[in-house]
Amino acid sequence: MGKRIVIALGGNALGKTISEQAEVVKGTAKAVAGLVRAGHQVVISHGNGPQVGMIQKAMTALHKQDPEHYELCPLSVCTAMSQGYIGLDLQRALRNELEKCGISKSITTILTQVEVNPNDDAFKNPSKPIGAYVTEAEAEVLRKERGFEFAEDAGRGIRRVVPSPKPQQILELESIRKMVEDGQIVIACGGGGVPVVKEEDGYFGTEAIIDKDFASEKLAEELNADYLIILTAVEKVAIFYGTPRQKWLEHMSVREAEFYIEDGQFAPGSMLPKVEAAVAFAKSGHGRKALITLLEKAEEGIEGRTGTEISMV
Ligand code: ADP
Ligand code: MG
Repeated sequence: MGKRIVIALGGNALGKTISEQAEVVKGTAKAVAGLVRAGHQVVISHGNGPQVGMIQKAMTALHKQDPEHYELCPLSVCTAMSQGYIGLDLQRALRNELEKCGISKSITTILTQVEVNPNDDAFKNPSKPIGAYVTEAEAEVLRKERGFEFAEDAGRGIRRVVPSPKPQQILELESIRKMVEDGQIVIACGGGGVPVVKEEDGYFGTEAIIDKDFASEKLAEELNADYLIILTAVEKVAIFYGTPRQKWLEHMSVREAEFYIEDGQFAPGSMLPKVEAAVAFAKSGHGRKALITLLEKAEEGIEGRTGTEISMV
């Protein structure tokens, strides 16, 4: 029986440059098409680290070069731009791949806004580094003029840091839901979605980045999906990762996963958000399961032959 699956694509599904992405998405489309051919209803979300980084750096350079004509581009606009061109490449690659298999489906990218809570603790503690490295003098100017915050990034220099609040509500959810129910393929919540906050006079973009693993989890929950599949650069989740005691896991119950999280087994910023998202999804409804596996192993994973599955028991 076909399942409803939200697939969260990681950095390795998209590559790091414009030409690399155009090439890499062909393989990504194969993996996704495999699930469509198997009769599953798929909804795609994706990360955007290198892409939004490129756009933000380009827009910042343009502003520096000609501040009179080009103002500094808000981060929410950079995220929206990245959803556009990543969606374009995914739409095209997936259409080509499905047509090869004789499947004709409408594939659409939804520019997605995700509401965050302005009182989220993340706003008090910006943690996500973005953009180019800057000198202390440059940072000082931007602190004063724009209220930006900066931090040392893993000993490599100073970078701007922005908050990474939790997703609360997907504004375009009803459009996504209708298209999915109609059997169409939707790409949504790219880069975690464009973060917005609701103020007295309406919604506004905010200088933040939502984690794509958490946004994908929210999307899967809201769409009443059976599966949340997080595709990344490792086939399974490990405990004691990168040590001589490393052990690959085929399955984690929610309780086990929560124990390992407490125990610090998963790296913050990479595997931790995935396991947290998987746990949240498995807990959110009866029979819901999450799977973390390698992009190329999506189909084998859903058949229960590889990857790390996270379920209530
Ligand atoms: P993505 O772009 O898919 O979100 P990330 O780099 O953010 O990818 O996260 C995936 C990476 O997490 C893996 O490639 C792996 O190097 C790393 N990782 C950290 N801790 C673990 C762990 N305990 N088990 C497996 N992989 C881990
Ligand atoms: Mg990641």
